[in-house]
Amino acid sequence: MFKAIILKKTEDKTNTLSIEDLSIDDLPKEEILIEVEYSTLNYKDSLAVTNKLPIVKNYPMIPGIDLAGIVRNSSNKNFVIGDKVLLNGSGLGEISWGGMSQMACVKGNYLIKIPSKFSSMQTMTIGTAGYTAMLAVLALEKHKITPDKGEILVTGATGGVGSISVMLLDKLGYQVCAATGKLENIEYLKSLGAKRIIDRNDLSKECKPLEKEIWAGVIDTVGSQILANACASVKYGGTLVLCGLAQGFDFPTTVMPFILRGISLFGIDSVYCPLELRQEAWERLARDIDLKKLQSISSLISLSEVLNNAKNMLAGDIKGRIVIDVNMA
Ligand code: NDP
Repeated sequence: MFKAIILKKTEDKTNTLSIEDLSIDDLPKEEILIEVEYSTLNYKDSLAVTNKLPIVKNYPMIPGIDLAGIVRNSSNKNFVIGDKVLLNGSGLGEISWGGMSQMACVKGNYLIKIPSKFSSMQTMTIGTAGYTAMLAVLALEKHKITPDKGEILVTGATGGVGSISVMLLDKLGYQVCAATGKLENIEYLKSLGAKRIIDRNDLSKECKPLEKEIWAGVIDTVGSQILANACASVKYGGTLVLCGLAQGFDFPTTVMPFILRGISLFGIDSVYCPLELRQEAWERLARDIDLKKLQSISSLISLSEVLNNAKNMLAGDIKGRIVIDVNMA
């Protein structure tokens, strides 16, 4: 028997969350049985467990878009018993049972062997948020936005994707401007490597189609008016990498910065990102992440603390990354 969070849909279409005892026979019959050590709480998980958006497609569901653990059985030739593995996205916690559980049974097509530099817990401090931050940094590099091109704006900077983006960009030599709604966290952002910190309210006002050129690149985790402002202030030839919607999924901009300044907008999807690119991202994380800084942004919770933390996350009250120790009482 093992413990897992179970989301169920009730007849009146609300959903319930409980921690239940399950047996291995309850799990889906997939290729790889994993003893889960850690999962994480991402923004999407918070939307799922609070039922704020229809993230969960099948009920009952074990939520959790990330997991890290040890292979206990495998019919996939690429993985053997004892391998330490991690999985991000790929429908976990949305269409197939996810990581907020002491056991999981998954397909092997997106599974990654944990790089030797990391413990299971460190990979979950990174989680989907950090792997997405790395995908965003890779996108800036592929668009030839090198550190000499100028400052990079990171929005939602104290959040999971934001914090790890700041950390990675600083390590790679970029000048980082962090936009945050929590100005009490200036020292936190400086400790991660931000050189300049701005109030996100200044980016939340309506803007002209073209504003002063400021940023060579942008990693945007919030969408909406902030993304529109960012577009209006990207320098000629710059690139915005867009991954989130914490402010909203609207995009109130014009074509002007694209056709007059030749800027590019690049979207990130971490969920079904091809295996090759995932592997590249995890190899680069192993090379580029500062483990001390990573430790400093991590907090550990148990399965029973997930719901309260999810509510706080959606209220924008969380900074850094929340790791779930699925074995913690
Ligand atoms: P977090 O909750 O950790 O961080 C989000 C941050 O956004 C907050 O900490 C806050 O930062 C800022 N924020 C919150 N509410 C608002 C608001 N109303 N207006 C403006 N800013 C706000 O989430 P994650 O970092 O894990 O994820 C960020 C976004 O990226 C989410 O929308 C998530 O769904 C998306 N995402 C997308 C992925 C993909 O594959 N495309 C993968 C991973 C995440 P501050 O106070 O510093 O401004």
